[in-house]
Amino acid sequence: MADPANIPTFKLVLVGDGGTGKTTFVKRHLTGEFEKKYIATLGVEVHPLQFSTNFGTLLFNVWDTAGQEKFGGLRDGYYIQGQCGIIMFDVTSRITYKNVPNWHRDLERVCEHIPIVLCGNKVDVKERKIKTGAVTFHRKKNLQYFEISAKSNYNFEKPFLWLARKLVGNPNLEFIASPALAPPEVNLSDEQKREMEAALAAAAPLPDDDEDL
Ligand code: GDP
Ligand code: MG
Repeated sequence: MADPANIPTFKLVLVGDGGTGKTTFVKRHLTGEFEKKYIATLGVEVHPLQFSTNFGTLLFNVWDTAGQEKFGGLRDGYYIQGQCGIIMFDVTSRITYKNVPNWHRDLERVCEHIPIVLCGNKVDVKERKIKTGAVTFHRKKNLQYFEISAKSNYNFEKPFLWLARKLVGNPNLEFIASPALAPPEVNLSDEQKREMEAALAAAAPLPDDDEDL
């Protein structure tokens, strides 16, 4: 592994309601889980997630809470010097999607103009409450949206690839090796994946004045 001191490193702030799967998601990356550091003063775990790209190795220091988000917003120290963000909601829980604008507002308040990805997690669950077409927040705020399933590793790398391209400023950046991930706990069938990808492709852009949520 490359010397961490020489690797371009970015603080990634992970937010979203409690129970949406943030911790499950970040722990999939095995070396990040092995090398995580606990910041006792903030009650935060920082997972160093390395990715090999055609522009060299990149490191995301992913900040994950110890559950404080269940009791309201997070302290500014969590956000300060954040360089990119992931906002997670749970596609089986309406309230977690309703709260996305609040997480976005908190993140933007401290970290202005950083690249942010919206992730709808738990797409392995068949009884979804938030269907693909109902996810509209990202279009109004210029975020990228991905559907993921932390438990099945589905689309694990997508949020990081999009953020890496933004941070490096090059859309041609590619990952050249897959990080070691924890084995899937659930499996998505190829048919399920095809259906989800078709639904994403079919979700048409909204008119600018659409304000429903
Ligand atoms: P956090 O509070 O946002 O960190 O959420 P956790 O990672 O603690 O996960 C909350 C619950 O959701 C746990 O019971 C996880 O096993 C479950 N969970 C997380 N990701 C997934 C997923 O992709 N699919 C399903 N079905 N359950 C998940
Ligand atoms: Mg957690």
